[in-house]
Amino acid sequence: MKKIYSIRKIDNLGRIVIPMDFRKALEIQEWDELAISLRENEVVIRKAQNACTFCGSEEGLTEYEGRFLCKACLEKLKSF
Ligand SMILES: [Zn+2]
Repeated sequence: MKKIYSIRKIDNLGRIVIPMDFRKALEIQEWDELAISLRENEVVIRKAQNACTFCGSEEGLTEYEGRFLCKACLEKLKSF
């Protein structure tokens, strides 16, 4: 990746354009799903992967009717 830093203006609907070279580097295609999360005072954007419906964890997932649950949330549900 050549460029690792870019300043972009956000529009009135809260949208930004992810630079083309960033998209190419991460193989992000048109209509790909991206996961957006808040970490401290940063907005983190990455390619979406299967994640727990409740907590967003990507570890130890179980699929149920097209949704994913992590082990911790599954255990919480069992005890509910
Ligand atoms: Zn979970």
